[in-house]
This record gives sequence, C-alpha cells and structure tokens, in this order.
Amino acid sequence: MAARKKSDLKALRQRLEAERDSLLEASDSTAEERRPVELDQQSVGRLSRMDAMQVQAMAQAVEVRRRGRLQRIEAALKRMDAGDYGYCTSCDEDIPPKRLEIDPAVERCVDCAL
Ligand SMILES: [Zn+2]
Repeated sequence: MAARKKSDLKALRQRLEAERDSLLEASDSTAEERRPVELDQQSVGRLSRMDAMQVQAMAQAVEVRRRGRLQRIEAALKRMDAGDYGYCTSCDEDIPPKRLEIDPAVERCVDCAL
C-alpha cells in the first residue's frame, strides 16, 4: 500500500463514515418496525397481526444484515487507524486500489475471498 496516496485513503474513509452514518440512521428510523408485535387482539384483527409479524420479521432480517455491514465498516476504519488498511487480513498482500474503490470495507484480496 506504499504507493497509495493519503488523499485516496481520506476519500475511502469518508465513504466508510458516510455509509456508517446512513446505516445507523436507517437502523434508528426502523426501530419501531422491529418492536415485538402486541398481543392485544382487540385493536388488530388476526390477519393484520400476521401482517405485522411478517413486517417485523423482515425488518429484523434487514437489521441483522445492516449490523453485519456496520461491523465490517467499523473494522475497516479500525484498520485505517492502525495503519493496516489495504492489506489482506488473510495473506497480508496488498489489496488492489480498484478493489477497495468498489468496496472500501473489503478485508481480503480476490484470491483469499474465493
Ligand atoms: Zn489474501
């Protein structure tokens, strides 16, 4: 990663931080959808309760994926702080800049990712 310019790293960091912020925001704004479905059957009929549970299940699945992505972003930012960013976490080889541009949170080179 010796040839990589500081400005490139800064741009990648900004992208990671922006994605992290929007993920956290999305997580916040959907918290309501993930709440347990009320057992009160008076206000909602049986069908709409099933709908609500389906919505909740989907929202939770999305949240699990979102949390996974957030963890990868946080890990990439930590690697940046540690000066390890841009190296494959498996074989320690350089990750090509093009690959980092496609996904700044990527942690492995193409060979190791297969
Ligand atoms: Zn590798």
